[in-house]
Amino acid sequence: MIKKFIRKILGVKDQRDASEPVILGPEEHGIDPKNVSSNAIRVTQTLQEAGFKAFVVGGAVRDLLLGVKPKDFDIATDATPEQVKKLFRRAFIIGRRFQIVHVMFGQDLLEVTTFRGNGSDNAPKDEHGRVLRDNNFGPQHEDAARRDFTINAMYYDPATQSVLDYHGGIEDIRAKLLRIIGMPEARYREDPVRMLRVVRFAAKLGFTIEPTTRAPIPVMAPLIDNVPAARVFDEMLKLLLSGHALACLKELRSAGLHHGLLPLLDVVLEQPIGMKFVTLALESTDNRVKAGKGVSPGFLFASLLWHQVLEKWTAYRAAGESPIPALHLAADAVLETQTENLALQRRIATDMRDIWAMQPRFERRAGRAPYKLLEHPRFRAGYDFLLLRCQSGELPAEVGEWWTEFYAAEGGERERLVAAAHTREREGGANGAPKKRRPRRGPRKNTGEGGEGGAPAPAAAGDE
Ligand code: ATP
Ligand code: MG
Repeated sequence: MIKKFIRKILGVKDQRDASEPVILGPEEHGIDPKNVSSNAIRVTQTLQEAGFKAFVVGGAVRDLLLGVKPKDFDIATDATPEQVKKLFRRAFIIGRRFQIVHVMFGQDLLEVTTFRGNGSDNAPKDEHGRVLRDNNFGPQHEDAARRDFTINAMYYDPATQSVLDYHGGIEDIRAKLLRIIGMPEARYREDPVRMLRVVRFAAKLGFTIEPTTRAPIPVMAPLIDNVPAARVFDEMLKLLLSGHALACLKELRSAGLHHGLLPLLDVVLEQPIGMKFVTLALESTDNRVKAGKGVSPGFLFASLLWHQVLEKWTAYRAAGESPIPALHLAADAVLETQTENLALQRRIATDMRDIWAMQPRFERRAGRAPYKLLEHPRFRAGYDFLLLRCQSGELPAEVGEWWTEFYAAEGGERERLVAAAHTREREGGANGAPKKRRPRRGPRKNTGEGGEGGAPAPAAAGDE
């Protein structure tokens, strides 16, 4: 007890020799062999029969210990990439920074990595200490020490059903603690992305970040600026698509990682007006991920940046631009800043623009316009986006309800809906009239004192 307490205060993991693992048997670790993929077993078995060491490693072992079925299985071995490749019919050596072998069985892909040594002391680094290349092979205990967190550094051998634990990972799993291996400052310097990873795991697993692991983060956060944008973006995507995006963003904020690093996050976290919208968008993303449904990054980023677009859209209209060109100018401006900083891929940016550009078209419900919109290849995304705008209070709920009915309706029913919408608009009915670009209708709804300081309609558009 006392030892544990002192260790906790000092944040020191253990004085035990980390070159010898603690080995746990099936009763101790409790892994259900049914959760281990048969292809992972095939790979470890083939390697072992050829005389090599081979283990399931990393996140898969962590998930197995938590009783969760891993979504993918990584394998670690002492065979070199060339040796691995020779043992499997469909195996490909990939990667330059880290050479790994992709072994394929049908649709299933397994990553096989050769144990890395701690050559990072003399590995090439950038001027901030970030490791640029690290391809030294080494013994298993060095491979363990190179991994990021204690709970990610365990090895499982399906043949003997034993877990090898070099850094007290089992204990940390039980205590629900995320603890970095080695000196936190040095590890973040080598690879600043680890700061984002710890936050993601904490949110996803519901774990606490151990104090010494957490302490340097706010100070070292700016180092993320030196990481290639594409890598930060990949990590951001993982974070946002983890099924725990809302929790991740809260955790980023509390770890002091949200400021001045990722422009997208600045926008998202520091806009009280859009927070309701963003929260709804992330909730729905999290629910979709948890239900195993697909999520499109384009939709996600379109939601995260929507209020920035709205703000600029309003500004362009206030400056005299007509609504549709103003929307495109706003989209351009927002995408430009974000692609620069976030390496938003062109494909994603195109999706975002499509979704935004569709929005004004949902407000036209007369004539052929709604039928044409239905045929838009991205209609479904645009419609889902519209529903978020309604839920967040930006648009009257009635607009979304109308589209839901229209979308589900058949033949004649659609015409009836269009006619009804048309009549309602003509009567300037209860809620039927779009709020936007109807400058002269104002007085009816008595919104004059709405806090917008009597500004004409453009300024009132959607930002409440
Ligand atoms: P998940 O796939 O569920 O997000 P994971 O732990 O499997 O989590 P991966 O990115 O797939 O994460 O990495 C596999 C393993 O490689 C990790 O468990 C860890 O041991 C090691 N690893 C990954 N990224 C790093 C890093 N930046 N620094 C050190 N080790 C890392
Ligand atoms: Mg993984």
